[in-house]
Amino acid sequence: MRAARFFVPAFVAFVVFVVPVTPAGAQGKKVYISVDMEGISGVNGDDQTSAGGAEYGRARKLMAEDANAAIRGAFEGGATEVVVNDSHGSQRNLLPEDLDPRVRLISHSFKRYGMMEGLDDTFDAIVFVGYHAKADAPRGVFAHTGSGVVRDLQVNGVSVGEGGMNAALARWYGVPVVAVSGDDTAVEEVTRSVPGIRGAVVKRAINTRAVELRPLADARKDIQAAAREGVQSARKSTPERAAAYQVRMQFRNFIIPEVAAAFSDITVVAPDTVQFQRASMPEAYRLIRVLYRFINTN
Ligand SMILES: [Zn+2]
Repeated sequence: MRAARFFVPAFVAFVVFVVPVTPAGAQGKKVYISVDMEGISGVNGDDQTSAGGAEYGRARKLMAEDANAAIRGAFEGGATEVVVNDSHGSQRNLLPEDLDPRVRLISHSFKRYGMMEGLDDTFDAIVFVGYHAKADAPRGVFAHTGSGVVRDLQVNGVSVGEGGMNAALARWYGVPVVAVSGDDTAVEEVTRSVPGIRGAVVKRAINTRAVELRPLADARKDIQAAAREGVQSARKSTPERAAAYQVRMQFRNFIIPEVAAAFSDITVVAPDTVQFQRASMPEAYRLIRVLYRFINTN
C-alpha cells in the first residue's frame, strides 16, 4: 500500500510534465523548404519559367501550390516553424499572399547562399520542392546546374546537380534533407546524393521538355505525404564536414574561366574548366554561386 501510494503520484507527475512538451507527432521542429520551379507539377514550358513569359503568372501559382502542399505536410509532421526560400531564377516568384499564412518567405536572388539562403544549424529538416536534374542529363525537364553556363560541377570528385550541392551544404550543418519533389529524373538524382530521402515524382520526363504530367491533385498529395513522413521521422545528425572542399567547374564557354583567373587561387585547368579549394562547404558554395551567376558574359 505504502509503495503504491508513492508510485501513483510519481507517475502522474511524470505524465503531466512530459506530455505537453512532446505530444505525439509534434516535436516543435523547425523546417526549411527550398522551392525551385522546373520540377513543379504542371510546369514544362519555357514561357512558364521566366518572368515575362506568357504563362509565367500561371506557373508561379502552380509553384505556390506545390510549396503549400509541402508546408501542410511539414506542419502535419510536427513542424512548428517553417521558412520557405524562393530558389528559382529571380527568386521572386512566390507571392506571400499565395502561400500558407503560417510561413516566412525568403525572397530575391541577391543571396550568397542562393537556394539555401537562411539555412543554419537551428533547423531540424529540409524539404526540396520543384527540383530538376543536373546539367547535361540526357533526360530531365529543364536539366541544368545553377544556370545555363555550367556543363558540370564536381565537389570532392563527385559530379553534383543543385540537389547534390545543396545537400552537401545541409550535411555541413547536420540538417537532414528529408523529402524532394520533381520529375522522375530529379527525384532519382537527389536520392543518389541523399539515400533514404522521401521522393514525390510529380511528372515523368520524356526528354528535356516533353513530360507526362500527373494529375495535379495526386502530385500535391504525394508532396504533402513525403514532407509529412520526412519531417516526422527527421533526426538531426552531427555535422558531416570534409577536411577540405575541392571544386571543379566546367563551363559551356571560355569566358568565365578567363574572368575567374582574376582570383589568384582559382586555377584554370582547361580552357572551359576551373578548379579551387575551400576549407568549408559554405565558403565553397559562395564561390560556386559567384562563378555561375554573377559573371556577366554578355
Ligand atoms: Zn534550378
